[in-house]
Amino acid sequence: MDFELIRSLNRPADTKMLLLVLDGLGGLSIDAQDLTELEKAETPNLDELAQKSICGLHQPIGPGITPGSGPSHLALFGYDPVRYQVGRGVLAALGINFDLKQSDVAARGNFCTVEKNGKVTDRRAGRIPSEKNRELCEKLRKIDIPDVEIFVDTVKEYRFLLILRGENLSGSLTDTDPQNTGLKPVPPKPLGSEARHTAEIVEQFIDKARDVLAQDHPANMVLMRGFSQKPDWPVFPEIFGIKAAAIAAYPMYRGVSRLVGMDVLETGENLEDEMETLEKNWKDYDFFYFHIKKIDSAGEDGDYNRKVALIEEADAAIARIMKLKPDVVVVTGDHSTPSLMKSHSWHPVPVLLWSRYCRSDSVNRFGERACMAGGLGPRLPTIDLIPLMMANAGRIEKFGA
Ligand code: ZN
Repeated sequence: MDFELIRSLNRPADTKMLLLVLDGLGGLSIDAQDLTELEKAETPNLDELAQKSICGLHQPIGPGITPGSGPSHLALFGYDPVRYQVGRGVLAALGINFDLKQSDVAARGNFCTVEKNGKVTDRRAGRIPSEKNRELCEKLRKIDIPDVEIFVDTVKEYRFLLILRGENLSGSLTDTDPQNTGLKPVPPKPLGSEARHTAEIVEQFIDKARDVLAQDHPANMVLMRGFSQKPDWPVFPEIFGIKAAAIAAYPMYRGVSRLVGMDVLETGENLEDEMETLEKNWKDYDFFYFHIKKIDSAGEDGDYNRKVALIEEADAAIARIMKLKPDVVVVTGDHSTPSLMKSHSWHPVPVLLWSRYCRSDSVNRFGERACMAGGLGPRLPTIDLIPLMMANAGRIEKFGA
């Protein structure tokens, strides 16, 4: 999408848009009934809405490409996920809700095991529990290096986050992970002269970490990967000329929303909390991104029945959402997570778009196969959804005379 074009055409309107993302919504059939999770679920509200909507399937990255939740959310927000890539260190920071500054350098760390000669014997330190990780991070936090502020935070098990804050830092560094056991960690190499200073700091950090962790076998060393800085991207509310809010319970989604400049609203853990947040803030924004996570987790666990039940729970929320009288509603997922595969997959994701001005099609049930016949087509590029929402909300001017 051409952000310049959209920016030049957007116009204010007194309309409200809601993008409801049921994480990992798409699925595959698993049983003799040959129904996907969404097809199996009793979804009277979604089905009724589908009858009045234009439906289809969207494809976040490209044919056959299985997306992570980060890139597929960027696509939902209108950002080409191949062009707008986030470094892995930054993603880790977003994942634990770390408030990253533009000049910070973020990296993912692994606690690992090295033997006396310095060679790595286990790149994951026997998958130490998060509790142990927290103790070790406490030690790493005491490392002092001149001219730079250091933050160390637990991610999970053997993984942690390192943030360097200071002047003239750069994320253009190579990883220190040798990728295989039997090799020594590799010193970080600057990929350009601007990263020389940072490489020296990282080297000092690693040397000191080795000393600090010497007695902590199996977690007696660190490997650093994915050095990166927060990207300087066009800002979502500014591109589209809207006040945008994100309602999401999980840190990663809050992080991605913050990265594109949405207001991330405080909310609780469950759907009821999120609904209350939506109702409370309804009058203050033009656009809401509303995220429901647990459907994806059920798919990842291979739990078909739980995924069905969670879709039904989300369906109940639809009635409550429609009571707020939105002007444009999109209901979809960020990618497919079939419980059959216990993982994300490349399959296009069902989507419905409802507004007063949508050209409704013959789809009368919200499900994968039904949506294949819908007016949005079976492979709509995901980045096209936002401009369609904008148009349906009366927020895009005519192009040319
Ligand atoms: Zn996802």
